Amino acid sequence: MPQIAGGCLCGKVRYSASGDPAFVGVCHCTDCQKFTGSAFAIVVGVPKPALTVEGTLSTYRKTSDTGKWTERKFCPACGSSVTDEAQALEGVVMLEAGTLDDPSWVKPGMQIFCDSAQPWVQLGGDMKAFPKMPG
Ligand SMILES: [Zn+2]
Ligand SMILES: [Zn+2]
Repeated sequence: MPQIAGGCLCGKVRYSASGDPAFVGVCHCTDCQKFTGSAFAIVVGVPKPALTVEGTLSTYRKTSDTGKWTERKFCPACGSSVTDEAQALEGVVMLEAGTLDDPSWVKPGMQIFCDSAQPWVQLGGDMKAFPKMPG
């Protein structure tokens, strides 16, 4: 069982989760690119009741073209992207993998929104690839 614990850059926000992740994935959507300031997001999905967060996160909620919202949470002190919650994935919190204390066990099983991936991005491994959100 992986150790799921981490926090933001300044350390005011810390989290830990018990149990195994529900999934590990890569998202190439343009919103994740903005939120992370990177080419794609790597997220570790955990059941919401399994997650404990210490400290205060700010929330930005955005509704997409499909009418469903995503709540993106970040540290108000240092700006680190810490979690996402999507209305389409009820009961799951996605942790931004780069905030884990030890992300070395992270192995994404799928990548989504490949239609908006940066043209130079070629990810290795044996990932299922979806052009948009899988149904
Ligand atoms: Zn912080
Ligand atoms: Zn995304």
